[in-house]
Amino acid sequence: MDYQAKIARNVAAIPRSGIRDFFELVQGREGIISLGVGEPDFTTPWHIREAAIYSLEKGQTTYTSNLGLLSLRKSISRYVSSFFEVDYDPAREVLVTVGVSEAIDLALRALLNPGDEVVFHEPCYVSYSPSIALAHGKSVAVETHKADAFSLKPEALAAAITPRTRVLMLNFPTNPTGAVASLADLEGIARLAIQHDLIVLTDEIYSELRYDGEKHISIASLPGMRERTILLHGFSKAFAMTGFRLGYACAPQPIIEAMMKIHQYAMLCAPIMSQNAAIEALEHGAPSMRAMRDSYHQRRDFLVKRLNEIGLDCHTPGGAFYVFPDIRKTGRGSKEFALGLLDAEGVAAVPGSAFGPSGEGFLRCCYATALTDLRTAMERMERYVGSL
Ligand code: PLP
Repeated sequence: MDYQAKIARNVAAIPRSGIRDFFELVQGREGIISLGVGEPDFTTPWHIREAAIYSLEKGQTTYTSNLGLLSLRKSISRYVSSFFEVDYDPAREVLVTVGVSEAIDLALRALLNPGDEVVFHEPCYVSYSPSIALAHGKSVAVETHKADAFSLKPEALAAAITPRTRVLMLNFPTNPTGAVASLADLEGIARLAIQHDLIVLTDEIYSELRYDGEKHISIASLPGMRERTILLHGFSKAFAMTGFRLGYACAPQPIIEAMMKIHQYAMLCAPIMSQNAAIEALEHGAPSMRAMRDSYHQRRDFLVKRLNEIGLDCHTPGGAFYVFPDIRKTGRGSKEFALGLLDAEGVAAVPGSAFGPSGEGFLRCCYATALTDLRTAMERMERYVGSL
């Protein structure tokens, strides 16, 4: 059978994730230090794991409401109100999803008609462009630049908007660059969204991981934006809960209703034990979250300093847990550099090109890795760069 002919064209057309391809090379190799996968090295705090265990002990093994447990939605609403300063009705404006990943897919499928354009800033998380293609939309990437610390400038965004633009996707702090947005830039972006009547899909999964005492600002909290914004957040990063697969979307009721229609048929609901653990995370997880954030902060400072000493120009990212050094001086392409580093020194980092063409010339190093390993990784990187 010609299976390729049986696969839907939009699925056949999307590439495999560059990260996954790269990490297949790492599988089974001994002694590798991985700065690769964007996953906390911390185990989920014990009190949160205990809440999941207790949920099972109590025999809570059923479906929940499609929207998610009302008690969790109430916790989310309180948390979002205090952290993002935007109010959502837990009964109608919050949808609990299987990770932010599912929420991205639901939002795009709920909003896009075939050929609608979605503008996003790049380098960006690997799933954006494929998720848009799977929802039959058209990706329009706006390049961001090292000179702007990879933040999205309203002027660059304005040039990318056309009459077919329907959705603007934002991700601050950004995977893979750690970029954050200033209030002035967010205000400029918000003005454009209002002027062109766009829906803004804002993935704020790294929002707790801001450093240097800076406060995260959500575009949803700016005047006139709540009504046109879908705010996505989750538990994977700040609470080290990747395996729980839990996220949520907050938006005006008609949008949540449309997303819920897809969710109820495709997913039904998120796992109940993860939902119970998430309540514990929101209600009592702040101290452990802050301790993890402080540790990332220390590691960020170490990595930025060492990379610059090694001669790889590296801006100081304001958030997330990635640094994005410039490797162009070495004369190597990002894939060639990353493969060489892996072969010669056993350090795995992701070529910037995996995050879109504008990531070429850079390397993503995730610092959700123990400081001792980061130290060794930098010694090895120094030797490798010196050998080029
Ligand atoms: N959004 C961004 C920007 C990410 O970096 C990731 C994971 O790396 C996700 C979404 C997926 O998150 P979740 O585990 O909640 O599906």
